[in-house]
Amino acid sequence: MSVRNVLIVGGGFTGLTAAIALAQRGVQVTLIDRAKAWARVGHGLTIQGNALRVFRELGVIDEVLATGQPENSLTLYFADGRVMAEIPTPRTGGDDLPATIGALRPDLHEILVRKAESLGVEIRLGRELASFETVGDTATSVLSDGTTETWDLIVVAEGIKSPTRPALGITEDRAPSGLGIWRAVTSRLPEMTGGIAYPVEDDGGAFKVGYTPVGPDQCYIFVLCRPVRPDNGLSDVDEVKRLMANFHGPFDHLRESLTEETFLNFQEIEWIFVEGPWHQGRVIALGETVHAVPPLIAQGAAQCVEDSLVFAEYVTQEGDLEEQLTAFEARRIPRVKGVVDASLQLADWELHPGTPDADPGRLMMQALFALVPAP
Ligand SMILES: Cc1cc2nc3c(=O)[nH]c(=O)nc-3n(C[C@H](O)[C@H](O)[C@H](O)COP(=O)(O)OP(=O)(O)OC[C@H]3O[C@@H](n4cnc5c(N)ncnc54)[C@H](O)[C@@H]3O)c2cc1C
Repeated sequence: MSVRNVLIVGGGFTGLTAAIALAQRGVQVTLIDRAKAWARVGHGLTIQGNALRVFRELGVIDEVLATGQPENSLTLYFADGRVMAEIPTPRTGGDDLPATIGALRPDLHEILVRKAESLGVEIRLGRELASFETVGDTATSVLSDGTTETWDLIVVAEGIKSPTRPALGITEDRAPSGLGIWRAVTSRLPEMTGGIAYPVEDDGGAFKVGYTPVGPDQCYIFVLCRPVRPDNGLSDVDEVKRLMANFHGPFDHLRESLTEETFLNFQEIEWIFVEGPWHQGRVIALGETVHAVPPLIAQGAAQCVEDSLVFAEYVTQEGDLEEQLTAFEARRIPRVKGVVDASLQLADWELHPGTPDADPGRLMMQALFALVPAP
């Protein structure tokens, strides 16, 4: 086996799934995160079938399915609430898994932390990677607590804002997508299945509004909008209600369910794609540290967890580690690029409605069907 002892920096989807996949193959894993404690905050996510396929390999599929709400289709609405179409969602993880599930990020995170701990992964919170050095067949880390240790490999899974990325010789940086997003978790009526609505015209408000069930009586809402929150004196909840004002049908219930107590979050959406290499010597970056996209086909986490599983398969074979890392990247980068290209094109069409020949539905289906084969 090329690696026996690995440091993972970052305990999001990427870091935790890499830790689990490596530990399952006999690697001794230490994972650090800058968070002082795991926070139980966060929004809903749509997890696609190809991510569920990875969760099955990691041995957590039963818990993941139990916490989520499965969906096999998506309803498209006109803004006035009439149904435009109900489209089946591709089962990217195979026919024996749901096309998608909606779930709360903290619930999924807890499942992954529990699994990692059960496999003996050592988790140290409140620590960052201060610096690293690759020497021969090892990498030495200096952590923010002052400790110096030596590893066969360091995995950087710090996410899109990674402070370590430039030290790997990576020159690409995160960039604005032109889009912003509001998200909220709220109640749903039992008959409501996942849906998206489009405005009649660009009135300076929402590009689109959608919701995904995350439990029997809960869903998360998203409002895709401009990246800068207008300085209009409205509270967060009133701003979201303003953006949703022209959307009806199920959106009337969702809008009315929002109160000053609802946990709302606004953020500008950024993206990054690192063409490669993702590694330098004995340090490699995975997940959103090297590829993050606007969530228009909801493949962000799926691409992260696919990275982790395939990475663990490569580096736990017998052979030369440099060759394994290079082969891993050659396999992953084209697949990730397909998702990045499709997501950026979809973002551009959101920003420029009426673009001649724009066909978001077809592009989304093409991008998702391309992910059906194993990662
Ligand atoms: C608005 C929005 C909506 C999204 N919706 C979806 C969706 O519906 N479906 C989907 O699949 N994906 C979605 N995504 C994408 C998904 O959230 C990401 O792909 C995924 O969370 C990235 O995981 P990660 O582990 O690479 O990074 P992160 O989740 O960012 O985790 C990084 C971890 O590293 C830690 N860290 C950072 N820096 C350091 C450091 N220097 N030292 C130690 N620790 C550090 C952080 O504390 C964090 O725990 C969405 C993203 C956004 C922005």
